[in-house]
Amino acid sequence: MDDCIFCRIAAGSVPSTKIYEDDTVFAFLDIAPVSDGHTLVVPKSHFEYIHDCPAELLGEVCSRIGRIAGAVQRGVGADGYNVLCNNGRAAGQLVGHLHFHIIPRRSGDGVFDKWLSFKYPPAKAERIAQLIRKAM
Ligand code: AMP
Ligand code: ZN
Repeated sequence: MDDCIFCRIAAGSVPSTKIYEDDTVFAFLDIAPVSDGHTLVVPKSHFEYIHDCPAELLGEVCSRIGRIAGAVQRGVGADGYNVLCNNGRAAGQLVGHLHFHIIPRRSGDGVFDKWLSFKYPPAKAERIAQLIRKAM
């Protein structure tokens, strides 16, 4: 994918601040961080969405995330972190190459404070669960 910025970063043809690399994944600092140490972990091969990525490869990518996230937290001395994977424009995905954000957090930092939640009316949860189970 010549025109994909994350393919090019993973191949080393576009510069990045590298955190970690192996045969499967490339991890680098986000150029517009939410907090110090905000890191992106990408598979070296190109898939747009998490559900496009073959299960075995996804497992390999995820198996790296714990180690990288622990290092990010310890490295910047964060109190915690979020692992975030945006899928689709509606979900905020701007780069069409599967990536996981590791976002270091500090107690009371206010990041993600505006998490709009609601309660299901009676029977709606089961109706929705049925639709999802059928789509599996
Ligand atoms: P998303 O909105 O989930 O697609 O996130 C894409 C992320 O990639 C954003 O947080 C951007 O700041 C980041 N980003 C885009 N281009 C680069 C780049 N060249 N180097 C590092 N991070 C980038
Ligand atoms: Zn790509």
